[in-house]
Amino acid sequence: MRLGIPLPVKFCYCPECKKIHPKNWYSRDKCEICKGECKTFVVKRTIYGWLMYVFSLLGVVVLVLYVGHFQMGWEAFGIMKSVPSDLAVVILFGSILASFVFQYLELSKTSEIAERISRSKDFRS
Ligand SMILES: [Zn+2]
Repeated sequence: MRLGIPLPVKFCYCPECKKIHPKNWYSRDKCEICKGECKTFVVKRTIYGWLMYVFSLLGVVVLVLYVGHFQMGWEAFGIMKSVPSDLAVVILFGSILASFVFQYLELSKTSEIAERISRSKDFRS
């Protein structure tokens, strides 16, 4: 599934340890175990990754609306008048939880794909 936003998941393959691990945006192209050079490659996000973003965004939106309406009483956030505050809290925590679940699923799925890529003949040559 391609949504046009280039946010792939990066992985590092260490030829020394023969291991792959997800690469954080702040980490260099070094193996976490032996600190040797590793080969960086990308895996396309899966639907879980996009759902993770959707629920994170939903959580932020509900949080801002909640604080704006229930705490600050801003008129502009009147859309929340029809939403009971308990329901807003449930949606807020539900979306945060869903985002964590999808993050976990995304990491296990992309790790599986990365493992498959790293085992291919073209990759090792
Ligand atoms: Zn290594």
